[in-house]
Parts: sequence; structure tokens; C-alpha cells
Amino acid sequence: MSGPRVVVIGAGMSGILAAIKLGEAGIRDVVVYEKADRLGGTWRENTYPGLTCDVPSHFYSYSFALNPEWSHRFPPGAEIEAYFEEVARRYGVDRLIRYGAEVDRCAFEGGRWRLATRDGRADEADIVIAATGVLHHPSHPDIAGLDGFTGACFHSARWDHAVPLDGRRVGVVGTGSTAIQIVTALVDRVATLRLFQRTAQWIAPAANPPYSEEEKEGFRHDPAAMLAIREETTRAFEDGFANVLVDADHPMLHAIQAGCEAYLDTVRDPVLREKLRPNYRAACKRLIMSDGFYEAIQRPNAILVTEGIERVEPAGVRTRDGALHELDVLVLATGFRVDQFVRPMRVVGRDGVPLDDVWRDGPFAYMALTVPELPNFFMLNGPNGPVGNFSLIDVAELQMHYVMQLVEAVRSSGRREASPTRAAMARFDADRRQAAKTTIWNTGCKSWYLDATGLPTAWPWTFRRFRDEMAQPRLDDFDLR
Ligand code: NAP
Repeated sequence: MSGPRVVVIGAGMSGILAAIKLGEAGIRDVVVYEKADRLGGTWRENTYPGLTCDVPSHFYSYSFALNPEWSHRFPPGAEIEAYFEEVARRYGVDRLIRYGAEVDRCAFEGGRWRLATRDGRADEADIVIAATGVLHHPSHPDIAGLDGFTGACFHSARWDHAVPLDGRRVGVVGTGSTAIQIVTALVDRVATLRLFQRTAQWIAPAANPPYSEEEKEGFRHDPAAMLAIREETTRAFEDGFANVLVDADHPMLHAIQAGCEAYLDTVRDPVLREKLRPNYRAACKRLIMSDGFYEAIQRPNAILVTEGIERVEPAGVRTRDGALHELDVLVLATGFRVDQFVRPMRVVGRDGVPLDDVWRDGPFAYMALTVPELPNFFMLNGPNGPVGNFSLIDVAELQMHYVMQLVEAVRSSGRREASPTRAAMARFDADRRQAAKTTIWNTGCKSWYLDATGLPTAWPWTFRRFRDEMAQPRLDDFDLR
């Protein structure tokens, strides 16, 4: 294939990366469709108070665009968004982006992908890179009466900055990473903060010190210092965390459990402490990093509500014990519909088979990237990927490296198309399902890592294995035409 036309869908972290890597490979006929009017993906959409990445700054950066200006060990959301904007400008990606263009349909017809956007544009491509994100579609809780609430109510990923918070009665539903950050950031601003907890969460203490001016100056003059931090963090995350999550018996998991328990012991009121104690193992749900939440929830104006929510009424939240918790603002920090991936876009593969039919029992992808009968269609951070507290930037970089090799292999063999064989997909999926059973995510908790049958969907092997797989495509696993 010479000079393929490539459509990238989504101008978030992965889409920007894809455009840069395509350009470096000399592929010039590239367009990036972005449904919003700005780039940045999840970092554009999430703007809630306290938003911080729980992956360290120099690790949560493109390997080729380290950033000496990070203000803290864990970067604030607004800084990350600005970083992506700056990188996109520096690498000329912004010129390739078509904003306000939501790809609605993407069908493989007559040997090419035919795309249509909601606003009526049509395009064709040889290769499609779906960089549409994982934590993207807000999950709205099925709580009776939400519409009748007379105060302000919004999902954490749709924060309404016009709503005043200072001195008001605020409720937060949920205890995931998002809620924990919001509570910690808001408690000292509001009159009362009620946290509606359905399930307690383990929290690992993680300090977030600022980088001093001297340190930043050092990084500016010595990029190797940033690289050293990045490599050290990669090793620590990989060996001390990502690799151990896939082995529920790993001794390191017991050390992590002990660390979380010791941190929980800092809660002074024994009644509150027990309410905050989860009844499942640490890291079964995605482990939360915070060194401020336990202090925040012990403030006199913070109330942990563990009674279940009966319904929402005009004045507030009624819990099952009959109590009415009166509120001015209700924040739904209730997570995302992670089973959507490229949807609601209608993807239709070879022979007119819709992806929705292929994924009837849940999304899957060979190597977390590609699906049989969808030639040259690649999903960055797609289904079954390593999402266990690792930097998704690293995952996307490794995947792009793999995609570029595959594209080159197809081109140099005089073919036009590559898609994984059904046999390779079936083998990958069977192995993945088997390995998922012994991961920490499968030890008796509910989380967004699980599919509809309760099996973890994330990459169930070590990160080392992912790196090794991404080093070179196994061409025998592909149907090349
Ligand atoms: P989440 O982890 O899925 O948490 C959703 C919370 O909402 C859970 O506590 C859940 O309770 C609760 N919930 C859902 N429906 C409910 C209902 N009907 N009634 C009561 N409670 C309900 O979502 P998230 O906190 O937005 O985080 C999602 C992921 O985003 C994280 O795991 C992480 O990967 C990413 N994230 C990362 C950062 C970061 O620092 N990098 C920050 C924020 C988010 P149950 O536990 O009982 O289901």
C-alpha cells in the first residue's frame, strides 16, 4: 500500500499520538475527526474541582515530548489539557483536525472504509485509527426522582461551573477516584459535604508535592533528568504494581493491602473508620491514590452517608432509613459506560457485518487493538487492554509502534489489508479469559473492570508481556489480502 489515506477518530491523547506517528512514518494523507470544538479528550471533558491524574507527571507524558513544566508529581487536569494542546501545535497535528465532526458511520465497502459524520461530511480511508477513549460516556445512575431535584445536578464529567459551590450544601454520589478527588477539593469550600457511599474503597496514601522552580529549571536544562524519573516510575509501576495485579496471590498485593489498612487506621473515629473499611481486597477495584481524603471526610462539615439511596426528592436525597439529606447541589460521580468503546459510531466490517453484532456479548479485540473482518481498523486503548493503573500513554505508544509495523508489513508484501484471523482471535480470547480468573480484579468486588458476566476484561498478563507482544506483530495471526 503506498500513500494510504488514514482517518483518525478522536483528538484526545491517543489520536494526537497517532497523527504524530503517522507523520513520522511519512504518511501525509491523514485527517483527524473530532466531535468537539477542542482537542484533549477526557482532559477536555473532565474539569471537576480537584481533577488530578493519578499517574505521575513524567510518566503521564509522551516519551518523545517530556515536559519540564509539570507543576506537581501528579499533574492537575488543566495542565494535562494544556500539554496536549501544546504538543498538538508543536507537531502540526492541530492542522489535521476537523472539529465538530462526529463520525457516525464507518463501513468497509469495496475495499475501503467509507465514513460519514453526523453533520453530513463523507470521507474514505484505507486505514482507520479509532482513538475514541475508554472512560468517555458518563454512566447515569438509575435513581428514582433525579429529574425532580430542584437544586443543581450534574455528572462529574459534565461539571457545571456556573453553579456556585461556596457555602452551599453539596452531595456527591460515588466513591471512585473521581468522587474522592472532588470531596477532598471541595470540603473546605462548602457548608456541608455529604458523600453517598454504596461501596467503601481502599485508598493508598500518595503525596503530591509540587516541583520547585529549581527542579523545573534542572529539567529544562537536563532532559535526561526527566527521562530518569520517567524510567524509574515506569519500573516502579510495572514491577511494584501493574505486574502484580494479574496474580492475586502475589506477596506485593499483601504489602499494598497492609499499606492501605495502615492508612485507614489514621481515621480517628472508630465508627467512621469501620464505615470506610472495604470488605474486599485492596486493588480489586482500581486502587485510589490520595493523601487528603481521610482528612477531608473527618472535617466537621463532612458527612459519610452509608445508608442506601431510596430516591431523590425536590429538596435532596432520601435514604432508605427515611432520612432526607437536603442539598443545593448533587454531583453524580458515578463513573462511565466502559463497554461502549467506539460506539455509538456504527462500524460495519467486511461482508456487511455490524460490529454491534460481533460484540453482542461484550467488546473484545485481538491484542486490545483489532477485530477479525475489520481490515486496517485499529482501536488505541481498545477492549482488553492494560488499564490497571498504568499510563495509557505508554499503552497507546506501544500500540502505535505495532500498528506502524503491521502497516509496513502489509505494504511491503504488496497487500492492502490486515485483520486478525478468527482463529487467532479465538485463541487470544480463550487465553485471556483463563488468565483473568486469577487476577486481583476477580477476587470478589464489583468494578468497571468486569464484563456483564463478572469476568475482568482488562489485559490479564504482565505489562512485560504486553510490551513483548507489541514489539512485533505475529503476522501468522493476520489475514493479509
Ligand atoms: P468509578 O470508579 O466507576 O466509580 C463510580 C462510583 O459511583 C462507585 O463508587 C459506584 O459505587 C458509584 N455508583 C454508581 N452508580 C451508583 C448508584 N446508582 N448509587 C450509588 N452509587 C453509585 O468512576 P470514577 O470515579 O469516575 O472513576 C472511573 C475511572 O476513571 C477510575 O477508575 C480511573 O481509571 C479514572 N480516573 C482516574 C483519575 C486519575 O486520577 N487518573 C481520576 C478520576 C478517574 P459501587 O462501587 O458500589 O459500584
